[in-house]
Amino acid sequence: MKLEQIGEFGLIARLKERVYRPDQQVVAGIGDDAAAVRVSLHNLLLLTTDVLVEGVHFDRRIQSLWQIGWRAAVANVSDIAAMGGLPHYALVSICLPETVSVEGVEEIYDGMDAVADELNFRIIGGDTVSSPRDLMISICLSGEVGEKSLITRGGAQVGDCICVTGELGGSQAGLAMLKLAASDQKRKLSPLPKNEWSSVRDRYLQPRPRLREASLLAQGGMVHAMIDVSDGLAGDVGHIVRESGVGAEILEEKIPIGSQSHRVARHLGLSAMDFALHGGEDYELVFTIPPDDVQGAAERIRRETKTPVSVIGEILPAQEGMVLTSPSGERKPLLAEGYRHF
Ligand code: ADP
Ligand code: MG
Repeated sequence: MKLEQIGEFGLIARLKERVYRPDQQVVAGIGDDAAAVRVSLHNLLLLTTDVLVEGVHFDRRIQSLWQIGWRAAVANVSDIAAMGGLPHYALVSICLPETVSVEGVEEIYDGMDAVADELNFRIIGGDTVSSPRDLMISICLSGEVGEKSLITRGGAQVGDCICVTGELGGSQAGLAMLKLAASDQKRKLSPLPKNEWSSVRDRYLQPRPRLREASLLAQGGMVHAMIDVSDGLAGDVGHIVRESGVGAEILEEKIPIGSQSHRVARHLGLSAMDFALHGGEDYELVFTIPPDDVQGAAERIRRETKTPVSVIGEILPAQEGMVLTSPSGERKPLLAEGYRHF
């Protein structure tokens, strides 16, 4: 069978079935942002890993090695944050082609270490091998969360508000412009002044995981389910829906999209809504919370981190599926499509 016949998540589901063993110590396993394992009376060990492959996740023509290191670290921290935890220790594996110099590798490490310094984790090991062509970086990051603070993808309840931090789609808008700037096509389009896309460029090149916001939500104890937006809003709400056994309605007009994303989309003849729904790598948080608790949680996050929180929809019974409601009230099925590896 070809991989494209079942796709990334079909494959993961099959692998999960093959290796699954009931284990009382495993509180969350395959299917969440990170695995959670009971290691002491009150605390859980969190474990996550993400691999970045040249040509799939990054392009050395549009970003520096430092930025690639930064993004590799952020992808992992964001998964620990999505469980409500804090990162601790990282193992870093690198597959190096001849085209990367010693100084280049050090640059990658400086990028990762900058995240480690800012967000308080340490690199304590890894593996180094050669690669025939492409650069690959894989990080395995551990973290910790109190058992009562753990937030999984599986706890959403009918009637919960669906909320998102910050803005969506910026990362893909930035990437689209960076690709354009690096391609021959640039002569065909009138240039968009740099200052009109600098913030979305930075969203792509140097994203910031919502670690503090996630910790505040976990401490608050009201959030039922959470995920980080790494695959696009539609795909990631889809994970909450599937793991929680519920449906969801997303209100298109409530999805927070910044003015630069709109401007870039207009310039390129693309859709900012598509960037938000299917683009990914925004590293914002999507969470579900009872309606009575929304205002308090949003105010606390805004007060302590300045990050806005938007209510973008509601959790519905499973039979309703996932729907996107337009400003005129038209309801369309929302396909949980994000980036397709296969
Ligand atoms: P995220 O986007 O949050 O990093 P992924 O979509 O990469 O999560 O993975 C979804 C879930 O599947 C996670 O729990 C992850 O640990 C698990 N998973 C992904 N690939 C594999 C694999 N090859 N073997 C076992 N588990 C996997
Ligand atoms: Mg994730």
